[in-house]
Amino acid sequence: MHELSVCLSLMEQVEQIAREHGASSVTRIILSVGPLSGVESELLRHAYPLAIAGTVAADAELVMESADIVVRCSQCETETTVVPNKLLCGACGDYRTRVISGDELTLMSVELDTSGEPPDTR
Ligand SMILES: [Zn+2]
Repeated sequence: MHELSVCLSLMEQVEQIAREHGASSVTRIILSVGPLSGVESELLRHAYPLAIAGTVAADAELVMESADIVVRCSQCETETTVVPNKLLCGACGDYRTRVISGDELTLMSVELDTSGEPPDTR
């Protein structure tokens, strides 16, 4: 399952951030999901509990925000925020655009609990 491996690699980032800050736990993970990323939010939500089990983020809430799709026109260089099935330039209407944002999954922010003792990370 693609979403599980996506989730697991995100958790590596989250755990590293938690370690760097000496956090005892992670309370919330905020993701930005690009509509063109190929990641299904629903599947990601199902994979999430498997990925966080036994980690410092085992109790973390998952928040997913939908990212905008932005394309740049190859004709007039205008950048336009578009919807998934209509990747047209907003200035000249040309279809020869390139996606510059909206095709990735980004870890936006991680909320940490640093009040307790960090877990043993020998
Ligand atoms: Zn254009």
